Amino acid sequence: SHEFRTPLTSIRSSIELLGIYTEKVDADLQQKLTRHFEKIIRETKRLTSLMNDILILGRAEAGKTPFLPEKTDIHQLCTDVLDLFQPQPDAMGVELIFATRTREFHLDPELMTHVLSNLVSNALKYSKGAKKPLLWVDINSKYLTIKVQDYGIGIPKDEQEQLFQSFFRARNAITIQGTGLGLVIVKHVVDLHQGEISVQSELGEGSLFTIKLPKINV
Ligand code: ADP
Repeated sequence: SHEFRTPLTSIRSSIELLGIYTEKVDADLQQKLTRHFEKIIRETKRLTSLMNDILILGRAEAGKTPFLPEKTDIHQLCTDVLDLFQPQPDAMGVELIFATRTREFHLDPELMTHVLSNLVSNALKYSKGAKKPLLWVDINSKYLTIKVQDYGIGIPKDEQEQLFQSFFRARNAITIQGTGLGLVIVKHVVDLHQGEISVQSELGEGSLFTIKLPKINV
């Protein structure tokens, strides 16, 4: 994975340096260069995230995903994930509904952070201009239940079965950027936790992803 990441990191630092050099050129040229630098940075970020997803999938297929469940503050985990989406200027935010007083649950915090980020990112990405998405969490003596609800474009019924296949993208989503890898990783992590994931969605009305993880006896 190092081999993939190093060139991307050096491209980014070179671009940042070039950005400093352009402070010396005239304003018109500076504006044009800045636009291109921003585009290169955006695209390298996209490539880095794609590489990360492919690496995670590679490990998953080899049965080598490190699975390290530990006692985790789920409320904290959720707010940390939602914070990741705050800086975007066009982010409409996600409402967190924490339906329980219990905050702790045994799970792999790193893997579940990935799961939540993916679902929240999709909820925002596929519902631009619609009502605010919701992240709803409940913990009882048997399960942790997580629901991510959005009011966006929805998923065509006849394509819902294929959602968890690598590189699958529904026909109403092709104009929106994506790789079709996120949900495969989500499903893999849910399987590692011996949980279940289900989807309910209506075209043009929105989607609801529900994850249920059983309590691990420790
Ligand atoms: P990506 O979003 O990068 O394409 P995902 O694996 O996360 O990849 O999702 C696979 C496909 O499932 C998406 O391309 C889209 O067609 C559909 N999808 C996932 N989440 C949503 C959602 N919240 N609303 C509408 N469609 C969705």
